[in-house]
Amino acid sequence: MKNKGILTVISGFSGAGKGTLMKRLLERYPEEYALSVSVTTRQPRQGEVDGASYFFITKERFQEMIAGDELIEYACYVDNYYGTPKEYVEKKLAEGKNVLLEIELQGAMKVKAARPDTVLLFVTPPDADTLRERLIGRGTETMEVIEKRLARAAQEALGMDSYDYLVVNDDLEECTENVHSILLSEHFRKERNADLIQHIKTDVQKFVKGA
Ligand code: ADP
Ligand code: 5GP
Repeated sequence: MKNKGILTVISGFSGAGKGTLMKRLLERYPEEYALSVSVTTRQPRQGEVDGASYFFITKERFQEMIAGDELIEYACYVDNYYGTPKEYVEKKLAEGKNVLLEIELQGAMKVKAARPDTVLLFVTPPDADTLRERLIGRGTETMEVIEKRLARAAQEALGMDSYDYLVVNDDLEECTENVHSILLSEHFRKERNADLIQHIKTDVQKFVKGA
């Protein structure tokens, strides 16, 4: 009997390495993870492919998706809307894959409230200067946008306590293994094994004399 997958939220400051970490996790364990692709109203960055990084949609289509209850959650982040389509997530969880949602704090809280069995991970670089270096090093935003995102990091840090796990992304390989270990352990929680517990309880009854 295959366990249902675990809905896993990965949040963290812009530039913390969330995208890099998820890519590595999928490369190492392709059978165990699925990545949810969000919809967004922001413009694609250079090299971003529609349907891979995001589904890039208009504000009108975004409103339609909200009205049609097609999103698990959505939020506004630095002037743009972002949301998680429901259908793909449900399908992959049923297939037994851990589904990764890379979403920000407001979205993470909404998912946890709606589905308390979600695992919330907060990814951080070892320190603030490393964060700045990574954002600049990525070279995908103007200095103005980088400053806005760094300012937002101070606000986001206030929400770190609301997560289940804190993951430091210093060495990428070590960080990837740490996240995988967390999810391996989560699969053993009694709450996720109610059927198996019931099955074993019933099965051992056969040894009870006179039963
Ligand atoms: P996020 O998705 O959190 O915004 P990215 O995955 O785009 O962040 O990473 C930001 C930059 O930092 C990228 O240029 C990436 O190559 C680099 N990076 C990510 N993780 C590490 C790491 N462990 N060590 C060094 N550089 C990293
Ligand atoms: P970026 O513009 O850098 O791709 O993403 C900006 C922020 O939006 C990041 O913190 C990212 O985690 C978040 N984000 C991406 N997709 C979603 C989503 O579907 N829902 C929510 N709530 N946040 C998202």
